[in-house]
Amino acid sequence: MGGRRLAVILPSLLCNYDCPYCRIKARRRQSGERPLVDWRDALMTIGAPLAHVAGGEPTVLKGFADFVLGYPAPLRMTTNLWRAPEAWPPGFWERFEYVTVSFHPDHTDFDGFATRAARLHALFDRRPALRPRLTCTIVADPRWIDALPGWLARLRGLGLAARGQYLNRPAGDPTPTYAPADLKRLRASAIPMSHDRAGQDIHVTNGPKLCDAGRVYCHIDPLGEARRCSRDRLSLGNLFDGTFAWRDGEARCETACTEACDRTFARMRAISQEVTA
Ligand code: SF4
Ligand code: SF4
Repeated sequence: MGGRRLAVILPSLLCNYDCPYCRIKARRRQSGERPLVDWRDALMTIGAPLAHVAGGEPTVLKGFADFVLGYPAPLRMTTNLWRAPEAWPPGFWERFEYVTVSFHPDHTDFDGFATRAARLHALFDRRPALRPRLTCTIVADPRWIDALPGWLARLRGLGLAARGQYLNRPAGDPTPTYAPADLKRLRASAIPMSHDRAGQDIHVTNGPKLCDAGRVYCHIDPLGEARRCSRDRLSLGNLFDGTFAWRDGEARCETACTEACDRTFARMRAISQEVTA
């Protein structure tokens, strides 16, 4: 991140897909959600952090291209890449330093997705220095564990980074998402995953930690409520009412830290029960 603060923003949970494993999507916008121009203005009041736009599917939101072209700091995005990459206006993709494109087999065929991802990559063949870092992700749903290695290999064959993502449950729900035999098969496939451990394994071994999430990394929900990460509920205030504030150090966390983004951007260290009792 180069020392910049990163805000993962969810302006809406609206999505044009309806993946059965999705914990968050919505079929329509919730009351109280703000237009993207409000997000731009509010983010500028907190210093225009590097913003990772997630959802839902952010590209279906009204004014999305204007937001992208007008935000005064670099962007990241997670998208299902439903739309042809060439359909966006000039300069759109260059605004991103990182884009995660996710394949959802319930809604699109593999060849169609792979073709769109390869075309996005190819938009920068003559200007590679401007190409956003692209990563293809596929949720490791038990229905397609056996197909995953082949899909990832084909994406890598197109010059794309590609990895699987563990299927997790909502925060605090320790119910296993994988039967032991499925998890064993997934591990045996040795495919690259977004992080090293399945959520159900993390729940089993979860203990108290000190974590700096909220200091340079946070999540902001569609109503502007900011939390230090995607899982833990510790509040940083609200982006839209002037109460947002980054934290200035570590704080204790008891939450099972199961999400790849949290484990990538926060720094945590286990503390023993004896020390904190
Ligand atoms: S594309 Fe993403 S946000 Fe939309 S339903 Fe699927 S997993 Fe959820
Ligand atoms: S340890 Fe994980 S869940 Fe807890 S605050 Fe840090 S990033 Fe969030």
